[in-house]
Amino acid sequence: MTTTNKINDNLTPLQHRTVMHQLPGMPTSDGAGVKLTRIIGTRHLDTLDPFLMLDCFESDDADDYVAGFPTHPHRGFETVTYLLNGRMRHKDNAGNEGVIEPGGVQWMSAGRGILHSEMPEQEEGLLKGFQLWVNLPASAKMSEPNYQEFPPESTPLERRDNGTEIRVIAGETSEGTVGPVINNYTYPTYLDVTLPANTSFEQALASEHNAFIYVVEGELQVRDAEGNVSKNNTVRAKNLAVLTKGDTVTVDSANDGARFLLIAGQPLNEPVARMGPFVMNTEAELHQAVNDFHNGKFGQPA
Ligand code: MN
Repeated sequence: MTTTNKINDNLTPLQHRTVMHQLPGMPTSDGAGVKLTRIIGTRHLDTLDPFLMLDCFESDDADDYVAGFPTHPHRGFETVTYLLNGRMRHKDNAGNEGVIEPGGVQWMSAGRGILHSEMPEQEEGLLKGFQLWVNLPASAKMSEPNYQEFPPESTPLERRDNGTEIRVIAGETSEGTVGPVINNYTYPTYLDVTLPANTSFEQALASEHNAFIYVVEGELQVRDAEGNVSKNNTVRAKNLAVLTKGDTVTVDSANDGARFLLIAGQPLNEPVARMGPFVMNTEAELHQAVNDFHNGKFGQPA
């Protein structure tokens, strides 16, 4: 009987996401010599559909970052810049310009192409933040470029009674706080979570989404598939844990507390042809992107 089936469905225990594998980032440099750690987009983790790259930059030595990312193109995907410390100024060939501040986000959909620069708005002090590349489906790779840019006062900070703080960039927490970013291609979740010592945090995620946790500070234990505490799933600072599929994930902080990013999105399941700042579906489209760039079709440098 359908009624019985329905009851049984409702009693099916939630599948908890646990750690599939984890890995540290790789030191590298990009732009005009900015030192950074590449976490996704390496030979260890080439991509986690729809996420093409995750870079973390963190330095209080201006020599590591001051040269910035002078004018460069993008086509076919989105760049997401989120800062924890410091300020970055971006400027593009269409006249868009602004400064990204800690707690604020710039979610840029490059679409068919932009030329922009991303330069530190500081000559000393700590610069710390992330750039995530999110793929676009074939249907949107040649769309008009678009910015979703939110200052820190527009990204809600959820504060829980147990001291947990969650900056919600995209997606929705279990307490109903909704991030400002709208993305009807990959429906991302992007949370910056700070846990006090010995605190649990659970987040429901769409079961088909790919998801990862990057620990910024402290360490975490990710529960096992049944939702039980497991000493085998410890993720330490500066490590990324790719999560298994499931409906929800629960983590526990240790004595030092923890800060981490929890990011998830719907995979596109399309072929990926990538070369530097261009990410398309086919080699022919990549060649077209290079030709268009060299023929000035991305516009004049900002
Ligand atoms: Mn860029």
